[in-house]
Amino acid sequence: MSLLFAIDTPVVPIVGRAEQFPVNRIYCVGRNYAAHAREMGANPERESPFFFSKPANAIAPNGAEIPYPQRTHDLHHEVELVVALAGEALAQQGENLTLAQAEAAVFGYAVGIDFTRRDLQAEAKDKARPWDTAKGFDNSAPLSALTPAAQAGDPAAAHISLHVNGKLRQQGHVSDLIWNIPELIMELSTYYRLRPGDLIFTGTPAGVAAVVPGDVLEGRVDGLETLNIRIGAALRS
Ligand code: MN
Repeated sequence: MSLLFAIDTPVVPIVGRAEQFPVNRIYCVGRNYAAHAREMGANPERESPFFFSKPANAIAPNGAEIPYPQRTHDLHHEVELVVALAGEALAQQGENLTLAQAEAAVFGYAVGIDFTRRDLQAEAKDKARPWDTAKGFDNSAPLSALTPAAQAGDPAAAHISLHVNGKLRQQGHVSDLIWNIPELIMELSTYYRLRPGDLIFTGTPAGVAAVVPGDVLEGRVDGLETLNIRIGAALRS
């Protein structure tokens, strides 16, 4: 069987390895840090985190200049710890994972930014419409190279931060996640069959704000490769 045309598989580099990590799906969790839930007007005591997704080809490589996207005047940064899933056991079973299976499914970690067209998101919330145009656009998921779990230290205890033009905008501790990493994987596996190649954006700490063309962003999580992204000129005026 031949294909009508070829489509490139999105890939992420792996620190210290020549092989690259092929991306299957990108799952994201909303309001997984209490301080960010509050800044978005939600009450984390009453509302649980929830999931949404981005297409796999929304990723952008570390060091990229990302054109300021169309149809927004309020592009926001959300720095996040990203978990990459892989492994033979996950290939066999990806649904209703146990704690041990969830822990074993973690291949590695990266620093990512969940770019958000906040104006489109606000409109979607107002009108009870989907978030896809606010979240799932081109270059909306830049991330650093993946650090394999065995070399990543303890990301669950890491500090996470984002600087814009050298100034601190966001910071938090991964230990403050409402749903921690294995809980996220377990919960997600009750909705979807998880597969090797899946990425999970684990949520953002407080301090989300707008970026403009020319801004230089530096995302950090202890033990992982730093993410550097520049915002380029708008695709259209
Ligand atoms: Mn997010």
